Amino acid sequence: MASTHCHVCGSEIDASRLARGAKYCSLECRRAAYAEKYRTANDPVGAEPESFLAPNQRAALSELLVAADLIRRGYHVFRALSSGPPCNLMVLVGERVYRIYVKAGLRTPTGRLMFPKVDRAKFDVLAVVERNGAIHYVPALDEFTT
Ligand SMILES: [Zn+2]
Repeated sequence: MASTHCHVCGSEIDASRLARGAKYCSLECRRAAYAEKYRTANDPVGAEPESFLAPNQRAALSELLVAADLIRRGYHVFRALSSGPPCNLMVLVGERVYRIYVKAGLRTPTGRLMFPKVDRAKFDVLAVVERNGAIHYVPALDEFTT
């Protein structure tokens, strides 16, 4: 049974809002709840706080985290030496090369992973790195090695 009181401020929610399944008494409380969810979803749990990082520093960190993760998984990893490459990393599997594109990602307040739009023609695998250091490979790594 849903509560008839606002999850944020505890005020009673009016009948018309309740009928629509509202959990909050007002738009203001709803926004406050989502802001908190957004903050919690992107909390760098188990890592040093990185909120001071500039976007280019975060990009460099993400790239190195992915490189380290790939090395740990046993891949031969290559990193671009020139700036602005179409992909950041490459891995060598036997005689084949796979292009890896690294992007920093954030969680929406509802927990969905979001990241900037990318041109999928320019790489084979997208590696999305969250604030907490979690890495998501799309497609999954085992799909491109077999
Ligand atoms: Zn409220």
